[in-house]
Amino acid sequence: MKLVDSHCHLSFPDFLEDQQKVIGRAREAGVMAFLNICTKLDEIEMVHSLTTEPGVYCSVGIHPHEASMTLQTTNKLKHILEERLQTPKTIGLGETGLDYYYNHSEKDDQEQSFRIHCELAVKYHVPLIIHTRDADEDAIRILDDYPGVQGVFHCFSGSEMLAEQAISRGFYLSLSGILTFKKADELRKITEVVPLDKLLVETDAPYLAPIPHRGHRNEPAYVIETAKMLAQIKGKSLEEIATATTANFFKLFSRAETFQ
Ligand SMILES: [Zn+2]
Ligand SMILES: [Zn+2]
Repeated sequence: MKLVDSHCHLSFPDFLEDQQKVIGRAREAGVMAFLNICTKLDEIEMVHSLTTEPGVYCSVGIHPHEASMTLQTTNKLKHILEERLQTPKTIGLGETGLDYYYNHSEKDDQEQSFRIHCELAVKYHVPLIIHTRDADEDAIRILDDYPGVQGVFHCFSGSEMLAEQAISRGFYLSLSGILTFKKADELRKITEVVPLDKLLVETDAPYLAPIPHRGHRNEPAYVIETAKMLAQIKGKSLEEIATATTANFFKLFSRAETFQ
């Protein structure tokens, strides 16, 4: 069985002590690829350095939480991202988007940063890793300004409306451990009708550990729990879900093939 963790933060301090063991455990659990996600400028080098590991890819981008701080300290964000896109095993742009739940950055700054990522995504045909919270309408409005843009709504837990709008525009949805939570009936219902060829699985580790690991640090090996739940929802075997979500990952992040 081959699974992909399409979104994890292996370079966060949470994994400093046992990063290698964490990757080892994931491989034993059938995880053959990881997308190590960048969230801020001073993380770029560290996130990329882990791609020396087989099967570990990385993104480059600025989390919406970091938008104000980043734009205040550099006017070269676009240039920096553009340059980093030329480095091996960098296969996605993000995570970027809008987070109106926390609003750690000014809305205008979040939008400006998001638009920079969108522009580059179109220019270089690199998919976006989109983070939205309480900002579905604005996110779609902005994406619509960039015909041809591709990407994934990561850690999808949004509304049926967002799911429909995302799918109709060719975007993918990535499901996290939230899918296993007791109170996630609504999300499971939405997932039932989303075509399997538009779904990815992720952990967002170290956050959001799925049941039965809830409350502990999350790690890529646990992506199997989300895949198991998805199998149950879709009435398929775990093997079928692994095969489908892995194929979807490599279809979307097509650059990954060139670096295998
Ligand atoms: Zn996120
Ligand atoms: Zn994340």
